[in-house]
Amino acid sequence: LVARMRPFGETIFAEMSRLAAETGAINLGQGFPDTDGPRSLLDAAARHIREGVNQYPPGPGRPELRAAVAADRRRRHGIELDPDSEVYVTVGATAGIAAGVLGLVEPGDEVVLFEPMYDSYAAVVALAGGVRRPVTLRPDPAGGGRFTFDPAELRAAVGPRTRMIVVNTPHNPTGTVFTRAELAEIAAVCREHDLIALTDEVYEHLVFDGAEHVPLATLPGMAERTLSVSSVGKTFSVTAWKTGWVMGPEPLVRAARTVNQFLTFTANGALQLAVAEALEGESAWVRAQRDALQAKRDRLCAGLAAAGLGVLRPQGTYFVLADIRPLGLTDGIELARSLPHRAGVAAVPAQVLYDNVEEGRHLVRFAFCKRDEVLDAAAERLVAAL
Ligand code: PMP
Ligand code: GLN
Repeated sequence: LVARMRPFGETIFAEMSRLAAETGAINLGQGFPDTDGPRSLLDAAARHIREGVNQYPPGPGRPELRAAVAADRRRRHGIELDPDSEVYVTVGATAGIAAGVLGLVEPGDEVVLFEPMYDSYAAVVALAGGVRRPVTLRPDPAGGGRFTFDPAELRAAVGPRTRMIVVNTPHNPTGTVFTRAELAEIAAVCREHDLIALTDEVYEHLVFDGAEHVPLATLPGMAERTLSVSSVGKTFSVTAWKTGWVMGPEPLVRAARTVNQFLTFTANGALQLAVAEALEGESAWVRAQRDALQAKRDRLCAGLAAAGLGVLRPQGTYFVLADIRPLGLTDGIELARSLPHRAGVAAVPAQVLYDNVEEGRHLVRFAFCKRDEVLDAAAERLVAAL
């Protein structure tokens, strides 16, 4: 294995899902729903496969999907994209993020990231030969448990070698939906230091309590310097479909496209057609799913609190972070490794998503994108065991 990848072993999601399977534990670790997406979407995919959409799609993706993505972005956010040159389809957001970083970060360039951070960011920055500059998200000192950043720490992380900032909102694993004011701070730094922003918006629809997802690209001066990434997995509860897209100005999309030609070349064709139709026709399903998830968040938060954990209530995504210190525990990795055996529940230690591991030692992530009876059973087990 090449030296720059040696710090990266098996992903925490694979490790915890395997442990859950081995022990028969309820898996609240890796984030995936246990119910399917809209019937029309599943039927459309099957129909397209039966009807012969089984050869390579065009390199940039099916035109139907690129047009649907551009129309969706215009309808919901007023962003204008040329579907031919400013939208490019990838194998999930994961490939879009990788292609964007590999296409835009030179060896030695610095990349600012908010920690805790989704695990693929650190790995692809390392693959590109870039250097990570983490900015730590912490619960708001004013209370409420919402994670945010200190603008002074953000500014301190930026230097002459900084090339890119990665912004994931809604944020995995804290559940923070960045406010317009927070995004304005980030945008100001990008403009002042001429940075490229790479956004990860895979949870764009999963926001609760009336919170609003604001794409960074809609802020002044940002459209021309932002490569935005999203995908279908979370929006339509089909995480195995691995169909995503990058969006932005042609030079940034071209950079990702040039790299991605040699990573995956194209993505799955029949699914792209089905997704294009769902983006246009299934907004009511998406809203209902969001409301159902909000209730699931409340259900799991109540269960975790009953088990004695400190709950850091999220505004979006599939996840809630819990503070284990009220139980007299300090090491989330130790707890997550023993929990499947002790309690029959699997979770993810947040510590592995930090560069400054001390910041996240006491945090464990639980997924609430599960059927109510599964969440209730998990809560009962946690209450009994902890
Ligand atoms: N970004 C974040 C923040 C995620 O949680 C995930 C997990 N699905 C991804 C990207 C990857 O998305 P995809 O499955 O579309 O590759
Ligand atoms: N995004 C999901 C999570 O954070 C899945 C991660 C994965 O499977 N790589 O749990």
